[in-house]
Amino acid sequence: MRNKPIIAANWKMNKTPNEGIEFFDEIKSNFSGDQDIIIIIGIAFTGLNSFSPVPPIFKAAQNCHWEQSGAYTGEISVDMIKDCGADYVILGHSERRHIFKETDNQINLKMRSVTDKGLSPILCVGETLSQRNENMTDETLKIQLNEALSGLNSFSNLTIAYEPVWAIGTGLTATEDQIKSAHLRIKEILFGLYPNSDDIPILYGGSVNRNNASALIKVENVSGFLIGGASLKVDEFKSIINNVKDIV
Ligand code: PEP
Repeated sequence: MRNKPIIAANWKMNKTPNEGIEFFDEIKSNFSGDQDIIIIIGIAFTGLNSFSPVPPIFKAAQNCHWEQSGAYTGEISVDMIKDCGADYVILGHSERRHIFKETDNQINLKMRSVTDKGLSPILCVGETLSQRNENMTDETLKIQLNEALSGLNSFSNLTIAYEPVWAIGTGLTATEDQIKSAHLRIKEILFGLYPNSDDIPILYGGSVNRNNASALIKVENVSGFLIGGASLKVDEFKSIINNVKDIV
């Protein structure tokens, strides 16, 4: 692995701002100044301004609107996120796609907005179980990547997260072979879009925990993890980080 591994938490709709501060302080006291890893915490909008990033710990929003301001009641712009000191925005998470019916076109508008404002998108892609069973995994990844990345001015801050939908929050982890093959396919698709794509990190997400992190980080082309459930307990999250640090 050429780049530092990235361990990203997706807290989803969990943790009040005060609960987030407690967690952050614990991570900060263990890892601030650590040169070997990048830690990203995906926080609900209400907690985004509660603590300051201390390298290697950065903040991510979990969504944004593509417009910069205006009559969009209940929405949050990229400028608002940036003003809270966040560097990353998670986009296209399967819960946004499936529960909130976000389309590839909307994800593309968000990707453009985030990159135009100089923030770093973490773009989630992945197949459903029925797509996998119908041998549609490669085609699904191709469509999601092509559409989300269409017309983007910059690929330099991009991170991809491969998150098979059937592995998210289910306790079912994709096998090492499944991850290896999906990450390779993602690399090929990225290369077709952007010849200098070799350094774009590709995270795996889907029921990562302290017991499987050491094995999964060794899979070819896995640059780190996007972690939901196991990122909510600070001891578990710290163990995952330490297990990855022990390997790389
Ligand atoms: C996620 O929400 O992005 C995720 C991967 O969740 P979990 O780790 O709980 O499967």
